Amino acid sequence: MARVGVFVCFCGANIADFVDVPAVVAEAKKIKEVKISVEYKYMCSDPGQQMIRDAIVQHRLTSVVVAACSPRMHEKTFRKALSDAGMNPYLLEVANIREHSSWVHQKDKKAATEKSCDLIRMAVAKSIANEQLHEISVPVTKRALVIGGGIAGIQAHWISRMRGSRWCWWRKVLPSEGGWHSWMKPSPLWIAPSAS
Ligand code: SF4
Repeated sequence: MARVGVFVCFCGANIADFVDVPAVVAEAKKIKEVKISVEYKYMCSDPGQQMIRDAIVQHRLTSVVVAACSPRMHEKTFRKALSDAGMNPYLLEVANIREHSSWVHQKDKKAATEKSCDLIRMAVAKSIANEQLHEISVPVTKRALVIGGGIAGIQAHWISRMRGSRWCWWRKVLPSEGGWHSWMKPSPLWIAPSAS
């Protein structure tokens, strides 16, 4: 039986001013698998992370949902909190109720609150379906083939060379580098390093 912990962040006024956080916490508590649903001012702070670590141990959680900002901001922070508490870090789900709710529905608190509840329900469901993942290292052959000489092709070729790929084959599809972009006037075409 899944045992999920839900941790809802205020982000100071960033979320709390536009989402009814206590109502969201109460709604999450209604989900059968949710064993703890709590709120905190700044979930990424040390006390916030400690709250998660303690709950994992105390409630024998099998997965964690943090409802806060974009995973780009703090997914790594929360994954580490899970690891430190002895849980596989990939059993974390982040519900982005800041950028996807409070920031885009500032004039409609009811809608922002309802959407936050939905995002959390989805994150809980996904966290239950998640499997433990383990990082592995695999040897990589540093060779690449880039097809196309448009902006994306030029960029891919350049990055490949920058990252130490000794061999990078570059296959142009159109007669000139830059693809469609080079035909625009004035052309902001950036000159790529020569292909090898
Ligand atoms: S976890 Fe994200 S939403 Fe919460 S306080 Fe930190 S930055 Fe703000």
